[in-house]
Order: sequence, then C-alpha cells, then structure tokens
Amino acid sequence: MFCRFNLIVFSPKVTLSGKFFTSIVCYYLPTRGISSFAERIRSSQALKTCEAIPDKCYEHGNYFLFSCDPRKVLVHKETTSDKTKHYRLRGVNYRAVSTVGINVKNDAVFLGLDSDSVSQFALEIPGDEALMERFADSNGRFLGVRKSLFLLPNAESCITSQACSLLSWHKKKMHCPDCGGVLVNFGSSGTKFCQSESCVSNKTKERHHPPINPVGITILSDELNSKVLLVRQPAHLPGMFTCVSGFIEVGESVEDNIRREIAEEVGLDVITTEYVASQHWAFPASRLMLGFHATVKSTEEKIFIDTSELEDAGWFSPDQLRDSLERVKLMASKESSLMPDSDDRKSFCWVPPKGALANTLIRWWLNKFHPEA
Ligand SMILES: [Zn+2]
Repeated sequence: MFCRFNLIVFSPKVTLSGKFFTSIVCYYLPTRGISSFAERIRSSQALKTCEAIPDKCYEHGNYFLFSCDPRKVLVHKETTSDKTKHYRLRGVNYRAVSTVGINVKNDAVFLGLDSDSVSQFALEIPGDEALMERFADSNGRFLGVRKSLFLLPNAESCITSQACSLLSWHKKKMHCPDCGGVLVNFGSSGTKFCQSESCVSNKTKERHHPPINPVGITILSDELNSKVLLVRQPAHLPGMFTCVSGFIEVGESVEDNIRREIAEEVGLDVITTEYVASQHWAFPASRLMLGFHATVKSTEEKIFIDTSELEDAGWFSPDQLRDSLERVKLMASKESSLMPDSDDRKSFCWVPPKGALANTLIRWWLNKFHPEA
C-alpha cells in the first residue's frame, strides 16, 4: 500500500471586505486500495474547491471522451464470464489525450475521484473522424450518449449522464445573466462567476451553478396494487407506454407535483405517495428524476386524458408488464434497435428500457407486489 501523493491545494476565499485571496490547504489523497467513501468524497471536494487542480491529478487522470455534434461517448465491448458482451465506458490516459493537440488542463471537466482515488475527467474532443478513430481501437467505438445510458452498467451510465450535462453547461453558459459579462470558472468547482467588477453578482460573490431541473415520475397503481397505469405521448416510439412524469413547479413539493400531474394528465385523485428511487438524466437537459409510487382508489375510476399532452393511457396487468420488460430486454441485448417498428402506435408493447427510471419503477412494483414464485 502506498499513498499516491499528498495534495496541497490553493483554496479561493473571500474576505469580509469582499476581496478574493488564496489560502493553502493540505490534504492527503486516500491510500490506494483502502479509501473509504468518506475519504474519497472529502478529497474530491478539496479538489473541486481548489483554485487549480494539481498537475499530478491531470497526469494520472482517467479521461472519458465525448464528441460534440452529435454527442457521443467512447465505449468498448467487454465479454463477461457468461460469454455475453456488454458495453463499458472507456477511459483513456493523459498521454493519449495530451498528444493530439487538446488543451487538457483547460478543457477537461473534473468529475470526481474513483475508488482507486484516480481523478476522473470528462473531455470533449473535436468531432473529426480521424481523431475519433484513433481513440476507438478495434474493440471500441463512439456510441450515442442517449443510447449509451440504456446499455452501460448503472454506475457508468451515471458518470456519462453527469459528464454530458457538465460539458454542455460549460460550453453554453458563457455569459452572466445579470450583466451579460463573461463568466469564468471558479477554481475547479464546476461553478462559474462573473468577472465584471460592476456586476451585482460579482459584488455579492454569487456563483453560477450547473442547473438541475427536478422532475417527478410516478408508478401509479390502484389501492389493491392489481394494475399499473401507464401513459404515452405522441412523441413516444410506437407501442411504448411509460410512467406519468412532469417538471416540479416553483412552490411545489414532490408530492404536490405528483398529485397535480396525475390530476392534470389522467384526471385521477391520488390517495397515497411513497418515495422509491431517483436518478440524474442528461436529456434533453440536466434533470433530477424523483421516482414515486402513488395509488388511486380503483382501476374502475374514469380516466380523463389530457389530449394536449397525451395520446393514450391505460391500466396494465403484472403479466403485461413482465412481457413488455422481456421484449425490451431482448431488443437491448440484440442492440439492433431498442424499440420495434409498428403501425399500431397505441398497441401496448414496450416500456422504457433498463437505465430509465420508469423501468426501475416498474420492476420495483412487480418485485414488491407480484414477486415471481
Ligand atoms: Zn455579471
């Protein structure tokens, strides 16, 4: 066991008179291989709040590569012990990215430390075919980010979603919303501040943070948990139904949001709500999906569909849900397409694939109320 290196960071502070100054703070990166979660989080936070990430973190770092337009991520296929092949996120080292004309220390976005205390970065590379081919060897390829979220293991899907959202924000958020001045990175924190000394946000030392838009998503059942209500929007692929969801409005709790969305979209009164799970989702912009289980009195209650948002809605049995999960799992494993072609748009065939929170909620409900013998 060895300590990889001590970490001395230059931490930006603000005096009472409002002046920035830099203090030196010493940290120890966790000893390799025995780092606890808490040690890693504290070291990662120290790096995020320092003025500049130490060169050694870049030089020993792991880089996840993204192309810009369309947004793709570098992955590779790995054969597991059961002889099946799975996509994995592929990281490349500093030498590989610093020798192709990329200004790594300027462009890389720090994501955190992995379980070996190695710094993880997201890096956007120019979308030129020759460069992309150079990184994608015989086993690797650049895969559409949205598709990758359904195909990567959960932990790597989370990293991809985080990286994609941060890269987009850093690229788009260039100007201060108060004065239009130029925003610059605040150390390595992933936040920005306004350079203009006359700007109110500069005077109050306000930092601009990457946005997270909260969305409530609900697996809705009757009180007896005999069936689940799913909905489809016109934009959904043919045959796909999913859980009711919607943006949380200012002033709402998540529970308020769930009651309102279900009342608005299908005209039903919610009796109970229960938190189940959450996840970050990068599309179409950075979202925090908050997954709940809600109940209404009975499947006999009349559904009133809001046709401005929905194309259809209906109650589905545990057997129908299991069939749809199997279909989508099979299609995902074949990778030919995640969804089928179908002329009958409203005929229930599919639910969102694994990786989407709707899929997690449906499997959670089945396992809890209708476990297989
Ligand atoms: Zn400003």
